[in-house]
Amino acid sequence: MAESATARETSGNVLFFMKIPVICTTLLIEKSPQALPLGAACIATAVKHCAGIEALVDVSLKAFCLEDKDFPKEKNKAAGFVAQKLIEKAGGGEGAPAGTQAIICFSCFVWNVEILEAASKILRQKGIITIAGGPEITAHPSFYKGFDYTVSGEGEESVPVLISRIINKSKEPGKSDSVIISASPDLSVIHSPYLDGIIDPSEYGGALWELARGCPFKCAYCYESKGEKTVRLFPMERIKAELELFAKKKIPQVFVLDPTYNVNKKRAVELLRLIASKTPDTFYYFEARAEFIDRELAREFTKIPCALQIGLQSTNEEVLKLINRPWDKKKFLRGISFLNEEGVTFGLDLIFGLPGETFSSFRNGMDFAFSLYPNNLEVFCLSVLPGTDLFDRADELGLVYQKNPPYHVIQNKELQAEQIQRLEKLAKACFIFYNEGRAVPWFNSVCKCLKMSGTKLLEIFYEKVLAVNKDYEKCCDHKIIEKLQLDFLSKLFNERKMERYFRAAEDIIKFYGAISRTTDTRQSEILQLNYNAEYVASDYASDIRWFTENIKPQKSKIQTFINQGQADFRFVK
Ligand code: SF4
Repeated sequence: MAESATARETSGNVLFFMKIPVICTTLLIEKSPQALPLGAACIATAVKHCAGIEALVDVSLKAFCLEDKDFPKEKNKAAGFVAQKLIEKAGGGEGAPAGTQAIICFSCFVWNVEILEAASKILRQKGIITIAGGPEITAHPSFYKGFDYTVSGEGEESVPVLISRIINKSKEPGKSDSVIISASPDLSVIHSPYLDGIIDPSEYGGALWELARGCPFKCAYCYESKGEKTVRLFPMERIKAELELFAKKKIPQVFVLDPTYNVNKKRAVELLRLIASKTPDTFYYFEARAEFIDRELAREFTKIPCALQIGLQSTNEEVLKLINRPWDKKKFLRGISFLNEEGVTFGLDLIFGLPGETFSSFRNGMDFAFSLYPNNLEVFCLSVLPGTDLFDRADELGLVYQKNPPYHVIQNKELQAEQIQRLEKLAKACFIFYNEGRAVPWFNSVCKCLKMSGTKLLEIFYEKVLAVNKDYEKCCDHKIIEKLQLDFLSKLFNERKMERYFRAAEDIIKFYGAISRTTDTRQSEILQLNYNAEYVASDYASDIRWFTENIKPQKSKIQTFINQGQADFRFVK
């Protein structure tokens, strides 16, 4: 507070003209590039640059994190903790001048809104003014009464105007003007929080990078379902300047926020070339639509270190109609085959609990997804989010869902609650066994050998492993998971009297596990195999039955290492 105060002496008295602290804050699930407090930082930057009030306010950003050691686990204590820290930051702690006014802007999401609203109530009792925005508030701005003001939509223009109004007291806070619906700001004039320096992506190990806002599609479960259906692009000069900043700061990873990144192929290629020239060593994550990927674009993706995440959501045509998400399966498969042929890493998303989805149609969708060899398959429970088209049609569609965040579906016309719970277990098994278990190189060949679908295998894995020790549901140590996979599969092959096939499966799992760890850690590993590693690394391994019946076991010892930037192996004695 002291640095932000200006002082003038009059008649022997010191009068302090205090700048008003404006703190933009949020509560993060974790401290990671994906959880970086971009929304709060955008508002802080906009307030900082607002003509007319910039000299009157002292703007700062404060992010809390559920993972912080001192962050309380209980919700009521967490709200008190957040409120106390904000009071201290605003200079309202012990010894602060009475009547110090401060303004706190909360960025609210489904996972943090309850705690932030409770914190707001405490702050308001201390005379601090609170403003809330973010996706959860945008969805239903009149619902949350614990804040002085709620702002729906993008707040870069509306929040500074509101703060200016509060400071100038041009209107007293009142019920009628406590809910503000923002107009979409002009993206060519708003300031970048990175270039402004209000947030340093190095502190988060990476950046969330906005290239555009809006979406031309209207998937019923998404906030965009009731949006304008227009895409607004950030200007190229800002994009170039941010890239240069990422290069200067050697930012290791960037998550691109643009759900339609590759819909405009010309722009997508131009940006990929720009990225390759400015930040060749940074790893990028894109959201992409498979239907719009052709070979040229797939090749461009191979020129930078990157991974694509593709929304599949469902493969049930009835479901896709109900959620207003047209799907051209042929084009989708063609796009995926370009990615696989060119060697582009990609993951797929699926949502369970959508209207019209049955238990078996969802499992079929998962098995379809596995057949495409995604590097990861993210399986989400449907959230019936207020403010979406699906929320408005929930009764008509028979959706029963939690009335508070995260608004997960409990049952629908086709899925009983017990079946939704079974799909939750399947999602957990997929996360540990397939994603964290880095199973893509061998999952389909193991399932084929066992004559079992991927979903069946994962259901058994859940019952035999995760249900027995719930701690494993959160495990992300690949060596531990690999041991779980091998112990589980060894028993499964034995039960089916298929021990002889397990020797090859074991080699393939260990081989690709060691290669992937070496890729990550750049550390060598020594591995003893039942078969010659050349065969284990070959296409022969894609059919474990054929491999076992045609390749003679031959013990081999290998060492993994990094060769021209890639993990490789060599034989050792
Ligand atoms: S889910 Fe993705 S593609 Fe569909 S409307 Fe939302 S942002 Fe657009």
